[in-house]
Amino acid sequence: MGLFDKFNGLVAARSELGALRIDPFGVEIERIISPTEGIIHGRHTILAGTNNYLGLTFNPECLAAAHRALDAEGTGTTGSRMANGSYSGHRRLEEELAAFYGVRDAIVFSTGYQANLGMLAGLTGPNDVVLLDADCHASIYDGCRMSGAEVIRFRHNNADDLAKRMRRLGARATDTLILVEGIYSMLGDRAPLKEIVDVKREFGGYLLVDEAHSLGVLGERGRGLVEEAGVLADADFIVGTFSKSLGGAGGFCVSDLPELDLVRYSSRPYIFTASPSPATIASTRQALRVLAEGHELRARLRANFERLHSGLTALGYTLGAPPSPVIAVVFDDKVATLKFWRDLLDRGVYVNLMLPPATPNGVSLIRCSVSAAHTPGQIDAVCAAFADLRTVT
Ligand code: PMP
Repeated sequence: MGLFDKFNGLVAARSELGALRIDPFGVEIERIISPTEGIIHGRHTILAGTNNYLGLTFNPECLAAAHRALDAEGTGTTGSRMANGSYSGHRRLEEELAAFYGVRDAIVFSTGYQANLGMLAGLTGPNDVVLLDADCHASIYDGCRMSGAEVIRFRHNNADDLAKRMRRLGARATDTLILVEGIYSMLGDRAPLKEIVDVKREFGGYLLVDEAHSLGVLGERGRGLVEEAGVLADADFIVGTFSKSLGGAGGFCVSDLPELDLVRYSSRPYIFTASPSPATIASTRQALRVLAEGHELRARLRANFERLHSGLTALGYTLGAPPSPVIAVVFDDKVATLKFWRDLLDRGVYVNLMLPPATPNGVSLIRCSVSAAHTPGQIDAVCAAFADLRTVT
């Protein structure tokens, strides 16, 4: 078996799809017009697959902050914080994140992916046990693998199954790390966080919640599902990303535990990579201020995702979860889903295509992500494209 033979299946699948004009993973957005519009294949397209939940990528204050940092501090940090030192912005952002959640400390990572990798590989090792929801993101799975910890999966969103597995662990349960997400990225469903916290209260252990898709979206101040569910104080670690509602790139973990700071020293994904650029840090700091005060943005986002959810429901589509900014349309036929995705793009609507094995239970998904920056007219245009295809398929 040659080095590249493993790609033979992929090459065949790509050429088959190419003949059908389907290239979902190689889409080039030729021009970005706004948080919700771009040019793809020369056509004006509504972007409904961006995770740009608050639409902050063109926020004038965030842009200005990034420009100022670029001019004052340059294009990059050119190294890791451990080896090359932290810029003051990195430390200020950590203080601001900790203050936002009302906890002791925060660590900023270079991406959300690395935040999970860095926390899990830094915090847990071969003698530890982690209990993770089966639908957790790839970065959580990869972090578990990197840590070498014993990994036990529990059934998605099933607190009873979690309790059963905690009980089996006996005395070891008290040092277990439980891993869940706020809003799950594939289907857009929320974790039953109160029930999960009840299990933690009964058996002990620590809870890490990845709020990648719920930061800025849920809760009065945008602090995610932990805030909406009223369990912020029960989450020992909250992980998030700058790449969605904050419109940048990077990730973080906050915690009230004094030991968080120690994780830096054992976290290879923190130590051995360059820190985020000054412009990224500056725009994120500004975006965090906008997010914390973003009640109106959240209201607009909610109105938009409820509008799309009810529109698609009325058309008879099967949706993955109750309304949230992640709206997944569930299909059982992979090829039909691929064609559906292409036909939406032909109608000027860009959404995400999610296929097994990335999806839960082998389903194929057309995933829309809704933004506060979408106009009601754009939401209606997305619905109209789905309506058009409903009659075709
Ligand atoms: N966690 C979850 C739940 C995610 O969905 C993602 C990205 N889709 C990440 C972490 C990684 O975030 P980033 O893109 O900032 O690396």
